Amino acid sequence: MVVVMKPGASAVETTAVIERAEAVGVSTHPIYGKEHTVIALIGDLTKIDRSVFNAMAGVQNTVRIQEPYKLAASTSHPGKTTIDVGGVIIGGSEVVVMAGPCSVESREQVLETAWAVKEAGATILRGGAFKPRTSPYSFQGMGEAGLKILAEAREQTGLPVITEVMTVETVDLVCEYADILQIGARNMQNYGLLHAVGKVRKPVMLKRGISGEIKELLMCAEYILSNGNTQVMLCERGIRTYETATRNTFDLNAVPVLQKMSHLPVVADPSHGTGARDLVGPMSRAAVAAGADALILEVHPDPDKAESDGAQSLHLDQFAELMGQLRLIAGAVGRSIATQPEAAVGNGRVKEAALA
Ligand code: PEP
Ligand code: MN
Repeated sequence: MVVVMKPGASAVETTAVIERAEAVGVSTHPIYGKEHTVIALIGDLTKIDRSVFNAMAGVQNTVRIQEPYKLAASTSHPGKTTIDVGGVIIGGSEVVVMAGPCSVESREQVLETAWAVKEAGATILRGGAFKPRTSPYSFQGMGEAGLKILAEAREQTGLPVITEVMTVETVDLVCEYADILQIGARNMQNYGLLHAVGKVRKPVMLKRGISGEIKELLMCAEYILSNGNTQVMLCERGIRTYETATRNTFDLNAVPVLQKMSHLPVVADPSHGTGARDLVGPMSRAAVAAGADALILEVHPDPDKAESDGAQSLHLDQFAELMGQLRLIAGAVGRSIATQPEAAVGNGRVKEAALA
């Protein structure tokens, strides 16, 4: 059940609702929206008398939530959740583009890519320092050295950084460097890890598991939300089907379906969704047309030499060309592509000096 407070309800009124629910052993999750505060009540609701809450000062109404994913459900939240990452708003009217290499391979590779994607209009830098690889003999990522490179790229370009965290033990370490924590497809149902990132106060991008149903993705988001972290975004990155023509089947339906079912921002990852560079452009354009709140794209200065996912990585100039197309598509559906906030344009170093 959620208790929707009236616009302008006082802190005392909100606290009274929380205390009354907690007095009967129900846990409370207040969500402070722009207009309303809503308080989600989770637990044994048999002891809750809705009419008592409806009559309390400052309460507008109460709503029963049927879905098992209580906090992720669209009914639990007034409007959409927006997530502010250093001034870049994810889930608002602008579509955010995150771009960068699959793996951090070297300082030069990351800096060159970061400057190029920034100049083309990306507002968040991606790059993996801990890589979940099918083979234990494949490149596993640079670890903390890679995180340091990402942090340097952020300092130079002002682009916030999204990077994957794979284990509970490394959550604190990755938090020191990242602006958004990525939970990879293989870890969607790693409940220990979901608990751990639920305890931190940093945005989390949760990727759909390779065989994950949409409902399961929402239940996994619920693990993070119910641990107190309200800054969760959901990512469609392709699923395994009987089709072998592409690496994965990019489930574009998931974009509007998730937006109907949940208030959380929806990110599309056509790079992993297709696995093929020539398909990334068409499916990125389609994802923006379908209403995705953000895209995450793999871009590499020399994809043929990439340590991972070269076949699906865009060349720098291809990415710039695609950005131009995405601006047109976003405009056609009443949105625009987010631009870098003034306050985050970097430390003023010019690119040539920074790369020297
Ligand atoms: C990645 O983003 O490089 C990645 C490994 O993604 P996924 O977990 O979707 O395979
Ligand atoms: Mn990848």
